[in-house]
Amino acid sequence: MRDDFQVASGNDLRCKGWRQEGLLRLLENVLAVGEDPDNLIVYAALGRAARDWPSHDAIVRALKTMGEDQTLLVQSGKPIGIVRTHREAPIVIMANCNIVGQWAKAETFYALQDKGLICWGGLTAGDWQYIGSQGVIQGTYEIFMRIAERHFGGDLKGRFVLTAGLGGMGGAQPLAGRMAGAATLVVDVDPERITKRLDIGYLERRAANLDEALAMIAEAVAARRPLSVGLSGNAAEIYPDILARGIVPDVVTDQTSAHDLVYGYVPATRTLAEARAMRTSDPKALMAESRASIVRHVEAMLGFQAKGAIVFDNGNLIRTQAKEGGVGRAFDIPIFTEAFLRPLFARAIGPFRWIALSNDSADIARIDDLLLEMFPDNRIVTNWIRLAREHVPFEGLPARIAWLGHGERTALALAVNRLVASGELAGPIAFTRDHLDAGAMAHPNIMTENMKDGSDAIADWPLIDAMMLCSSKADLVAIHSGGGGYAGYMTSAGVTLIADGTPEAEERLDLSLTNDTSLGVMRYADAGYDEAIDEVARKGIGHIALGGGR
Ligand code: NAD
Repeated sequence: MRDDFQVASGNDLRCKGWRQEGLLRLLENVLAVGEDPDNLIVYAALGRAARDWPSHDAIVRALKTMGEDQTLLVQSGKPIGIVRTHREAPIVIMANCNIVGQWAKAETFYALQDKGLICWGGLTAGDWQYIGSQGVIQGTYEIFMRIAERHFGGDLKGRFVLTAGLGGMGGAQPLAGRMAGAATLVVDVDPERITKRLDIGYLERRAANLDEALAMIAEAVAARRPLSVGLSGNAAEIYPDILARGIVPDVVTDQTSAHDLVYGYVPATRTLAEARAMRTSDPKALMAESRASIVRHVEAMLGFQAKGAIVFDNGNLIRTQAKEGGVGRAFDIPIFTEAFLRPLFARAIGPFRWIALSNDSADIARIDDLLLEMFPDNRIVTNWIRLAREHVPFEGLPARIAWLGHGERTALALAVNRLVASGELAGPIAFTRDHLDAGAMAHPNIMTENMKDGSDAIADWPLIDAMMLCSSKADLVAIHSGGGGYAGYMTSAGVTLIADGTPEAEERLDLSLTNDTSLGVMRYADAGYDEAIDEVARKGIGHIALGGGR
């Protein structure tokens, strides 16, 4: 057990350069803000920062001693060696949880994990990019706003949003709901998760029982007042109960860790403590009970949909689990990417992030100002920065997310690198993005479901992305597989860059960020999306006439 999850501050280096020091601080940061750092778990039930503590300590030692002309190799959270490369090569390259196709099953993953041979890196845990619940908050907010624009006249004031899950990612939901104006009820089986989100200001109230929760929501809806309420309970019981009462929320989704039937989702047949004990004593029975509960959970979601609620899957594989449990209509529930965000991804607009490595929040405020100066006509960005400044508390190292697209990311990062060079910022800034990004992910049940050309399951794109990022001088490049279900569901690529104010950093940022979003646009243009074809033509992306996607 360790109890000192601190992140270094200021400008004193423990490594031979800022590239290594920046990555070390990001590793420290994912543990400082993670859900269960004693067990190296950052979020999403089992998403780990390193395979085990000896691996973690060896990574730290490596980052502290290696030169810029060396590259650290990490295999599923374990450092396997440092090789001599050159000063323009990545400092770290890693591959997490990649299992050969025929063997890529949840059971194989658990068996390999038990043998200490593999771990799941989530998307942003294993490659040290997680920035707390803020990382997903703008995405959730943008989904709510697309629903508001399409169905409710522009905002969610006076609307009831029902969801579940207050974990590392799900914890963003109540705050995103409040920003969109909604009265949001979030169910979580673990009362401690409710306490954590109340403590960090992402959640406003806790209800003692369902009656009290519904009364709070009804009052807020009537007054058209934004409100977020946490309720301790099992969603597989609470959702059917609300449905049976004849109450129909306006919007229904879910962000329990339904992707994991053993370490994530808790079945309604068990208390939290019982479920935890069964993880080792009888995982098979636990899986079966979890799936049976998910069936009830999703049937209730379909019941709400039949009564007119806007229902969507928020990326936790709950439909996939329900379908395997026999719910033939599970996929009547749309996935959020296809339903609401694909036109943005087709222009490579996605979750871009930056982190103040010296731990000075004034740096983030200065970059907020810079964004508003540079992109005054970008309504998504200006609206978001205004809201984020008012509502989003920092967790760990001060950080910001903003959905920026091709050209915008590069322009911002280069401007920030100049501010670092001139001393206007307190220290270097790390740039990264979610793996859920245009060129970076193949996930046929989340990111690439129902692609226009049927290319949902083709994983070539993230692999090309990662190789291209290595060739573009990025500081850290990662290839992850697994995703919900841990094996066989997705492949994705991650990248991190350290803007330390040097001309070399300028080159790395320019090449990596420009090429990363270029590939994203090319991927959607190739699949035939008009927004991407237009972007290719307007911005001359890729320098090859792709022939309108075909
Ligand atoms: P987490 O493990 O940190 O939290 C999950 C929460 O669900 C926990 O608080 C747990 O107590 C609760 N829970 C489990 N079973 C429950 C039940 N039956 N009823 C009520 N609460 C229950 O996971 P997370 O990081 O918050 O991620 C949640 C899910 O979202 C995961 O499946 C993850 O893969 C997915 N995800 C989606 C996106 C996206 O882009 N939309 C991003 C990240 C994660």
